[in-house]
Amino acid sequence: MSRRFMKFCKAMNSQLLELPESVWAGLIDDLRRRGGGIREAGAFLLGELNGATRRVRTWIPYDDLDAGALAQGYVRLSTAAFTKLWAKCSELEMVVVGDIHTHPKGPRQSMSDMANPMISQAGHVALIVPNYAQGKVTPSDVSLNIYQGAKQWNSFFGHDAQRRIQLV
Ligand SMILES: [Zn+2]
Repeated sequence: MSRRFMKFCKAMNSQLLELPESVWAGLIDDLRRRGGGIREAGAFLLGELNGATRRVRTWIPYDDLDAGALAQGYVRLSTAAFTKLWAKCSELEMVVVGDIHTHPKGPRQSMSDMANPMISQAGHVALIVPNYAQGKVTPSDVSLNIYQGAKQWNSFFGHDAQRRIQLV
């Protein structure tokens, strides 16, 4: 690995996700409600990029973009859903700063999550919430996964995830 590439990776992995506390609480509530404790639910996180900080302003649930997104128990999005997503971003003058979805048990990415990033762009951040977002969920409960390209991710859990998710 070249030194330049290493430096690039280091910069990518120092990325922070910043969310107002009200956005975090609303987002987790929304995912919990949509999943109903029996299926996965997810959303794109919208906001702005500011250097290494990805600031989340709002979210768009997958099932608002594609009514069939959650039908199989795990998330599947149609191509039309992405067309709607880009239209919404341009309407709000925001960009996709990450995505989030729930899992039945732990917050670890599945093989399918790793092989199919929602946005195939190095630096993209994917959060996974355990237990279908039931109960109180804090940043240390989730995993924060940073896409490196070529189906590779760097994953952070517990304290390491919490350090990268700032509630403001
Ligand atoms: Zn998953």
